[in-house]
Amino acid sequence: MEQIVELIKNRDPEQFEFHQAVHEVIETVKPVLDRNPEYRQQAVLERITEPERVVMFRVPWMADSGQVVVNRGFRVEMNSAIGPYKGGLRFHPSVNLGIIKFLAFEQVFKNSLTTLAMGGGKGGSDFDPKGKSDAEVMRFCQSFMAELYRHIGPNTDVPAGDIGVGAREIGYLFGMYKKLKNEFTGVLTGKSLNWGGSLIRPEATGYGTVYFAAEMLSTRSETFEGKTCLVSGSGNVAQFTTEKLIELGGKVVTLSDSSGYIYDEAGIDSEKLHYVMQLKNIRRGRISEYADKYPEAVYTPTDPQLDYNPLWDHKAECAMPCATQNEINGVDAGNLLRNGVYVVSEGANMPATPEAIDQFIDNQILYGPGKAANAGGVAVSGLEMAQNSMRLAWPREEVDNRLKQIMKSIHATCLEAADGYGVSGNYMAGANIAGFVKVVNAMLDQGLV
Ligand code: NDP
Repeated sequence: MEQIVELIKNRDPEQFEFHQAVHEVIETVKPVLDRNPEYRQQAVLERITEPERVVMFRVPWMADSGQVVVNRGFRVEMNSAIGPYKGGLRFHPSVNLGIIKFLAFEQVFKNSLTTLAMGGGKGGSDFDPKGKSDAEVMRFCQSFMAELYRHIGPNTDVPAGDIGVGAREIGYLFGMYKKLKNEFTGVLTGKSLNWGGSLIRPEATGYGTVYFAAEMLSTRSETFEGKTCLVSGSGNVAQFTTEKLIELGGKVVTLSDSSGYIYDEAGIDSEKLHYVMQLKNIRRGRISEYADKYPEAVYTPTDPQLDYNPLWDHKAECAMPCATQNEINGVDAGNLLRNGVYVVSEGANMPATPEAIDQFIDNQILYGPGKAANAGGVAVSGLEMAQNSMRLAWPREEVDNRLKQIMKSIHATCLEAADGYGVSGNYMAGANIAGFVKVVNAMLDQGLV
């Protein structure tokens, strides 16, 4: 198995995040391979770590100034053993092939855990929507879709949002797809409600992350009532994680963006959260403005010299990282544990480094890995696809109940798989094993393709 990781590193030496994601999965599925010798003969690890298809393309667009700008677009179609490729699009300057491959790889296991028929994919661009006008974002999205439309479709590959891709971007992308294909189909999820979107889709990832954590807490007969929670990010996932935590009686004291974080000891209540939603979703402002509006809060700018993130260095019981990959390193994990945190539920994808995860697992805290804890978003995307094919829209309560049930079932599946392989209580191993076995068995059923 070490040889496989070496092979992957040698083949694409610069794809660090992908190596990290593969390493984490391979380490935990070793007992599954030991129990199923045919998996080795069928080279399932080699097959599952190689994308079925990678599309990379030029995205030229014109800035308001008349200047032509060229970005790079990606779509990684990782695995379609259990359904059409499904996974979000990320627009962020840090995007490269390694990042998209890591996200697509994680997506395969996550989608498998939802029990819905969705394979795994991911895409995006190094385009930065920050500071761009609506017209620039629209021209970029149209140019991006002018190539992507050939590779996707409601039964082939169904993208959604991720960092930098919200309702506005999904709208522009969908409009261009419809024009090019002359078809109104559920080719993207995260659509607005009045043209095919699902109720609860915007809330789903954040709510789901909290539902998963609530399930973990219930194994110790506890709830969120009165618990202090550290949340990072201030985008889609962070906002709805905060909303659900407030509803369940938790006290959220932090939010962040890439420029810095705010600490509000009194807690971010519904009114303050409403302000954050307006600030981020409509005015597209910075989280520092929160401390101008609410002077009791303290704003700390990001200091690139520090080898830790001070957001994770406050007294709390729960931490919900909802910003980006590798935002909790070994030092941060030590700080969290020292400050009393014993619930970590990952809204973001791969927010904890391997050093941080080792500490969570060694200390036997309730650690919910992203591929299980944040699967609520893609699960409701799957429900959006179902509603689109039936040309029906389910009421809010129905979608929310289904989301709750799915998160409950993912939680139970992780525990069961971990028990079955002698690593009881290890949600990360459970998620990897359960996701892996389902996908690999489907691949083997379908022959060598
Ligand atoms: P948004 O773009 O809505 O928000 C992202 C937030 O994270 C912003 O506050 C952003 O700050 C911050 N952020 C992004 N990159 C960095 C960075 N390099 N350093 C510090 N802060 C950063 O994205 P989402 O809320 O949709 O996504 C957040 C995470 O959740 C991602 O890991 C994503 O993959 C994951 N996720 C999202 C799902 C969804 O349904 N949207 C589903 C499952 C997982 P700034 O504005 O300054 O960039």
